[in-house]
Amino acid sequence: MKRKSHSCQPSLPCFHCHPITYIRLVQHLIERCLQLKMGRGECVRALARHACVHPIVTLTVWRGLEKENTEFFQSYFHATSSRPL
Ligand SMILES: [Zn+2]
Repeated sequence: MKRKSHSCQPSLPCFHCHPITYIRLVQHLIERCLQLKMGRGECVRALARHACVHPIVTLTVWRGLEKENTEFFQSYFHATSSRPL
């Protein structure tokens, strides 16, 4: 379905037309940020700058990942908060 109210980005699945694909991609990008030991703010900025992902979308997906992987995030934040910002 094509609508004129938004423009699809060529490099990304369209959030409006393919929300599930888009969310999966954002999850994948966040996981890459985590592998690079980036904090939440850094991750939001990186996705906005490099993939044009809206910060609200990144934060929503981040919170979903947090709920699903509580233990992982606890150890992750413990590891990243010990380093100077
Ligand atoms: Zn679209």
